Amino acid sequence: MSGCPYGSDLERAELHGTAGTALAATPMSPRSPEQIVSGVAQLLAAHDPVVWRRLLAERTSDQTGHCPACRSTLIGTPTWPCTLRLVAEHAQRLSEVSAAASEQVPSGRSGPSSSGR
Ligand SMILES: [Zn+2]
Repeated sequence: MSGCPYGSDLERAELHGTAGTALAATPMSPRSPEQIVSGVAQLLAAHDPVVWRRLLAERTSDQTGHCPACRSTLIGTPTWPCTLRLVAEHAQRLSEVSAAASEQVPSGRSGPSSSGR
C-alpha cells in the first residue's frame, strides 16, 4: 500500500483535459423579446388564466390592423398583434397543452384544485 501509481497521471489528464473548455462554454445570452414573451406567458398560464383570457378578448385588431386597447396618447395605437396579444396567445397555447397533459394523467394530485368558493 504505497499509493496508486496512476494517481499522478490521472491528475495530469484532468488538468490538461476539458476542465478549461467547460468554463469557457458559458456565453452571456441577453434575453430576446421572444424569451420575455414566453416567460410572461408561462407565468400567466400557470397562475392567472383570467388575465390572459381577458387579454385575448380585449386585444383584438381593429379595421386598420391596430390594437385600440393598447392606444396611448404617447405612442399612439400600436400595430396588431401587440406584445400583450402575443403573450396572451402564448399563454393560451401553454394552458391547452398542460390541460391536455393533465387529462391523460388519471389522478395525479390529491385534494381539490379549484373549489375555493
Ligand atoms: Zn394591444
